Amino acid sequence: MLGAMQDWTMRVTHVVDHAAREAGNREIVTRWADGSETRTNWAGIRRDALKMAQALERLGLKPGDKVASIAMNHSRHLVSWFGVAGMGGVLHTVNPRLFEDQLEYIVNHAEDRVVIYDAMFQPIIDLMKDRWPKVEHYICFDPGPGRAEGATSFEDWIGAEDGDYRWAEGSERDPCMICYTSGTTGNPKGVQYEHRSTLMHAMAGLQSAAFAFSAASVMLPVVPMFHAASWGLPYAGGMAGIKFVFSAVNDPAVLHEMMIKEGVTDSAGVPTVWLAHFQYCDAEGIDLPPLKVATIGGSAAPKSMIERLMKSGIRVQHAWGMTETSPIGTVGGPTHDWEQMSFDEKVAKIQMQGRPIFGVELRTVDLDNFTKVLPRDGKTSGALQIRGPWVVKRYFKAEEDAVTEDGWFDTGDVGILHPDGTLQLTDRTKDVIKSGGEWISSVELENAAVGHPAVAEAACIGMAHPRWDERPVLFVVRKPGQECDAESVIAFLSDKVAKWWLPDAVEFVDDIPHTATGKISKKDLRARFADYRLPDTE
Ligand code: AMP
Repeated sequence: MLGAMQDWTMRVTHVVDHAAREAGNREIVTRWADGSETRTNWAGIRRDALKMAQALERLGLKPGDKVASIAMNHSRHLVSWFGVAGMGGVLHTVNPRLFEDQLEYIVNHAEDRVVIYDAMFQPIIDLMKDRWPKVEHYICFDPGPGRAEGATSFEDWIGAEDGDYRWAEGSERDPCMICYTSGTTGNPKGVQYEHRSTLMHAMAGLQSAAFAFSAASVMLPVVPMFHAASWGLPYAGGMAGIKFVFSAVNDPAVLHEMMIKEGVTDSAGVPTVWLAHFQYCDAEGIDLPPLKVATIGGSAAPKSMIERLMKSGIRVQHAWGMTETSPIGTVGGPTHDWEQMSFDEKVAKIQMQGRPIFGVELRTVDLDNFTKVLPRDGKTSGALQIRGPWVVKRYFKAEEDAVTEDGWFDTGDVGILHPDGTLQLTDRTKDVIKSGGEWISSVELENAAVGHPAVAEAACIGMAHPRWDERPVLFVVRKPGQECDAESVIAFLSDKVAKWWLPDAVEFVDDIPHTATGKISKKDLRARFADYRLPDTE
């Protein structure tokens, strides 16, 4: 028997309807790649999204059809989130940094019918057009120069519509967005976000243990709209009716200027973004912008970064998640005993990846068979699994589910769960090093190594060893103009990790390979050193 409450299908268009109705004149500011700026507001975003939905129908698109965006963060990209979902379509946010073969694969695999792109990515379109036979229309987000001769401009295209449109109706379990994983093994895999999962994820993101937006929040998300839906921030922000400041370029000087000028209170990005911002401020001899909240995720936030932000009076939230989890799994912010902690204890807490937000559950299982559930004792590390309504069940077009029988998705991460629910990530299951039957965390070795004053970046991989199975080798990039040798790195590590964890060799390299999302690519590093032999095994 049903209860007696009203029907309300969970569709993402509720977000833009609410924002336009309740915070219609809250601004959405964009700094474009050519240096110009535009200002619209939530009412304007909705008006344009309605026109876009009409324009897509005029092109012959039907519910379920896919539209790709190859774009940075800006107001027109935001319009397309709601315009595509509003006509029942699915927005495929493409990472422009993917390699050619991956771009070819994902656009064809998703069967995108329309591609909408920034003029700065015209070279990608020129390169890929012949390899994307199913794409029927190309539209350029930029009205000005840069786009190819004759390419349709987004403003002209939607400008031909009157916006007299009713959002398409459908199930709340319909897809509204698809993101592909960056594919560290094999082909990238598509994760289809549903209207319902997206709304639930955004609502959970609003809680004070997560993004905690208020009506006064002004957010500049540096995390790209093409990477795991910019962590769901545009949806959560629309629910709270906040002001957004977007920058279509990731230049720290521009970000800094926009943060000051627009009174930005909140920002979010991967550690490299924050690092670049620090370097900019140091070079200019200026303070960090007066933010209230800095969210860091996508890779582990280094201790020195957390310390610096906190010393500047900025609340740091360290988030963990993945494309497959929409992406927020955990967020670390002040805990109940925050006021009793010393500064160092607070930093140590934030260095961990935080606690699950309402809606998702975590557990760890043994790394050998993935069957035994491990205790949440703050000591035992295991393979991290997650389940919840915004966690992938089956990849797009896959024949089988990606979860265990009881619904757990294996993240590929290795972590420790603490009694208070805090997750401490220690490695990836494929990167953790097995030595003499015991596990060594490659990430912990890397994190410790980057604390060395002459080390810019470090990556650790396990190399075959006849006696121990595997032993760690550390690859190090020195800071420009700095000298250090293997002995000094080992000496530096020796009071930070267990003796038997110390790398068997430290090799100095000019660079370490990265994935399209800026993470260290151990797969490429292993391939580069496929012929490497440990010193005592030659
Ligand atoms: P992606 O799907 O590209 O967002 O990558 C997800 C992966 O990034 C996770 O499985 C983790 O390995 C890593 N990751 C995300 N957030 C963090 C974090 N806060 N600390 C350490 N690793 C992270």
